[in-house]
Amino acid sequence: MIEEFVFDDSEERRRNRQNGTGWIEVIVGSMFSGKSEELIRRLNRARIARQKVQVFKPRIDERYSVEHIASHSGHRHESVAVATSDELMAAIEDGTQVVGIDEGQFFDPGLVQVANDLAGSGKRVIIAGLDQDYRGLPFEPMPQLLCIAEFITKTHAICVRCGNTANYSQRTQGSENRVEVGAADKYEARCRRCFVPHIDSSSI
Ligand code: ADP
Ligand code: ZN
Repeated sequence: MIEEFVFDDSEERRRNRQNGTGWIEVIVGSMFSGKSEELIRRLNRARIARQKVQVFKPRIDERYSVEHIASHSGHRHESVAVATSDELMAAIEDGTQVVGIDEGQFFDPGLVQVANDLAGSGKRVIIAGLDQDYRGLPFEPMPQLLCIAEFITKTHAICVRCGNTANYSQRTQGSENRVEVGAADKYEARCRRCFVPHIDSSSI
């Protein structure tokens, strides 16, 4: 069971809601691990509870429609694409209670302060993103966001090689740039044993 179900109904959260305290939730994992699905699920529940929700994604990621965040399994939620964390902050409207952010790893370091400011002004901030890049190195600003979050969820995929728990995004083709937008055409979910931390066509 995803821990958020537990948090959702906990006494602690009810108290937070009553006294208007905001907080930060971070959802991290490899590609195909269900981060976007889980983010969309939480946002839908907030909307059903009639809360005012705003959702953002970085403009760099144009795999899918610009007006939506989307999961690999086809779930979608309306979103606004912004180029920077400053632009995100400037787009926050009066009365917004929940702020969802997908692909947090593609934002600038300013997202850390923005998340703190939003939570400090009483909002629930939910950020999903890759915790590691294609070499298995921490993908900023996600590590910093994990540190300041009240609640953390780690999602896992299934290793396409052996069926074990996958914690890595294997790049199977493309450049050696840190940011290389793609889905199943360029990446696979792999476990620790099957992951090759660089592009090496002989061993992939
Ligand atoms: P993320 O945001 O972490 O990349 P998504 O929420 O977009 O993940 O997609 C998760 C979905 O991807 C799963 O529900 C499943 O349908 C699909 N999927 C494709 N490959 C895998 C895999 N190797 N392991 C688990 N799910 C996978
Ligand atoms: Zn494996």
